[in-house]
Amino acid sequence: MLLVDPGLYIGTAADLNDRQALADASVTHILSVDSADPAPLLPADGGFRRKWVNVLDEATSDLLSHMDDCFLFIQEAVDGGKAAIVHCQAGRSRSATIVTAYLMKRYQLSFSEAYNRLKSVKQDVQVNSGFEEQLLLYETMHCAVDTCSPLYKQYRLTKLTEKYPEMQQVPRELFAIDPAHSSSTEVSYRCRKCRRTLFRGSSILTHPVGEGASAFAHKKFSNLSGDVQCTSYFIEPVQWMEQALLGVMDGQLLCPKCSSKLGSFSWCGDQCSCGRWVTPAFQLHRNKVDEIRQLHIQK
Ligand SMILES: [Zn+2]
Ligand SMILES: [Zn+2]
Repeated sequence: MLLVDPGLYIGTAADLNDRQALADASVTHILSVDSADPAPLLPADGGFRRKWVNVLDEATSDLLSHMDDCFLFIQEAVDGGKAAIVHCQAGRSRSATIVTAYLMKRYQLSFSEAYNRLKSVKQDVQVNSGFEEQLLLYETMHCAVDTCSPLYKQYRLTKLTEKYPEMQQVPRELFAIDPAHSSSTEVSYRCRKCRRTLFRGSSILTHPVGEGASAFAHKKFSNLSGDVQCTSYFIEPVQWMEQALLGVMDGQLLCPKCSSKLGSFSWCGDQCSCGRWVTPAFQLHRNKVDEIRQLHIQK
């Protein structure tokens, strides 16, 4: 095992066998980022604080959702004047991802700054491409995972899409509450035809505007002036869509009340009118819905 930062070691599963080294380094906290349960490696009376994040070293695995928790776990050891070891099997990808996230948050570093700092201690680290994307997203989120943010919602949907072929159904908790069955002061959007409320402003997953007409190389555009517009709202799935999504990869989205066509969805993603690809895509045409704002009347 190698010392990366005061009180923080990175290592392999085999390092857990060296009890003397752990004791000499004042390790009290063991963070296992591994698909194999590390418990058999440690004696029951070890007196260690332990945390196990059960993930495979695959680009589709989710480590982002664990980064804040892992930070707190390591911090507890460091602030107590003790040490933590973060390990996976080989000490190259999964543990390196968590250690990099820790350095980013602790010292307000960018991904590349933190990753280079780790590499200067352990040259053979190599986080997989999916973990690298998650660390970049963590940087964008200012090293705090806000599960209500559009960025995180889009991330979760994308992760889900990667597993979709083996899924029987979309997990319930992924659907936003149907705004027609609850009240809120938030901006909401309703069907232009029948006025049924369809989604709230917080369900909109904004994306950076794409490169417009140039992204549609296969189509002829009369307007090439660069006037780029998104003609759809891309949103998280809402409860009333559940039936439409059952067992299919793509399809239409109809108003649950008047059945007029509002838009479409595709787990494989779709291209916005601005040129940007959004995966997966749940889109409602802007000209099929009306925005409703609460009026604050001032005297
Ligand atoms: Zn767009
Ligand atoms: Zn309608």
